[in-house]
Amino acid sequence: MNDASICPSSGGNLEDRSIQIDFRHQGRLIVVEGIPAQVCKDCGEQVVSASTSKDIDALLW
Ligand SMILES: [Zn+2]
Repeated sequence: MNDASICPSSGGNLEDRSIQIDFRHQGRLIVVEGIPAQVCKDCGEQVVSASTSKDIDALLW
């Protein structure tokens, strides 16, 4: 958790933001908004925590 604010791709700084994620699920497009994530200021990499990913999986099923 110590380096949670560093981008794994570019090493840039991450900032906390709400993002929108698109899924293809059983042939349908599902858009989930307001996902808490960290976004890299350098390359735009979006980092979603493991617990948030689990919540998204739960939503889909
Ligand atoms: Zn980056």
